[in-house]
Amino acid sequence: MQIDSIEIYKLKIRFKTPLKVSIGVTEGAENVVIKIITNTGLIGWGEASPCAYITGDTQATNLVTAEQLAQLILGKDPLAIDARMTEINGFIVGEPSIRSAFDMALYDLAAKAAEMPLYQFLGGASAAEQPEREFRTDLTIGWQDTVEQTVAQAKEVLDAGFDAIKMKVGRSGLQDVAHVAAVREFAGPDVAIKVDSNQGWDYPTAVANINAMAPLNLQYSEQPLAVWDFANLARLRDKVNLPICADESVFDDKDALKLVAAGAADYLNIKLGKSGGIHTGLKINAIAEAAGLKCMIGCFGESRLALSASAHLALARPNITFLDLDSAYMFIDDPVQGGMQYDKSVGGLIHVSDAPGLGASFDESMLESYAVFTV
Ligand SMILES: [Mg+2]
Repeated sequence: MQIDSIEIYKLKIRFKTPLKVSIGVTEGAENVVIKIITNTGLIGWGEASPCAYITGDTQATNLVTAEQLAQLILGKDPLAIDARMTEINGFIVGEPSIRSAFDMALYDLAAKAAEMPLYQFLGGASAAEQPEREFRTDLTIGWQDTVEQTVAQAKEVLDAGFDAIKMKVGRSGLQDVAHVAAVREFAGPDVAIKVDSNQGWDYPTAVANINAMAPLNLQYSEQPLAVWDFANLARLRDKVNLPICADESVFDDKDALKLVAAGAADYLNIKLGKSGGIHTGLKINAIAEAAGLKCMIGCFGESRLALSASAHLALARPNITFLDLDSAYMFIDDPVQGGMQYDKSVGGLIHVSDAPGLGASFDESMLESYAVFTV
């Protein structure tokens, strides 16, 4: 099998409401879509959702890089995923979002060639065969101006049937405490609440906040400190009685290894847009598993197509315990056919397609063509 043609598209979708976090605001998705077509007529889809202030890339840089990556792998065997991803990851430092789009399209093709849903191609079982796992995503609440607005957002999440809330925190001083306490009081004791500071606290602020939130029965603290501050993450983990989850501090398997060696995290947040896709995401999970760390899987502004790839990976690796796959839930439009679905009757419950590959494709009328490369 060989790659005959690669098409590159732009995809723009607005969120229902902008998502504000400590280091930036996201109004919606400005994504890049990759369609790989083989000489046997198989099609593989991938999607990048760059988030400049975290991933260091943008739609514009992804488009330019996509042209180069397309020329790099055109005419080659898409089933040799390790060889293709070694070329792609060796071609450029950074640009993880677009590397993940190519990775995803290659896995989609390989699973289709094997006539398996991707989770099965990765060695996993269906959700029905793993009844002990609850396959539900949380829903994220961004920064609101007032505690009342934060509680109103929490009400919307719970009214939609979700049983897990991820709150964006990381404000200065102890401002976050009132927001989190109010949501805990409103939600009652049974709703899972995790807090994500997006690097917004320094070490003393993190200690003070986590101690002040100790009665609120939180699940974990995500990225409380700056990306690079492994030493203080380790110090914080020793100091407070709440698991610490690394997100922006872990892009790839090398970061995972360093975090483990530093004793700096209890959980690792895998995002395909940071790891450059499934190929490296599997390595991060393997390192975490060997070190006794659980993983979560998160997202940026992906549609249900890229979220399908993450959901298949989560199904295939039970060590991926926490799901944060809510970006497409916030979209005003849905450009995806098939793929991962949000259950309309049970908030947060995710259904993954048993169709071959990702089981998802794009409605091409919702994409803007950018470039086509053909052998
Ligand atoms: Mg995060």
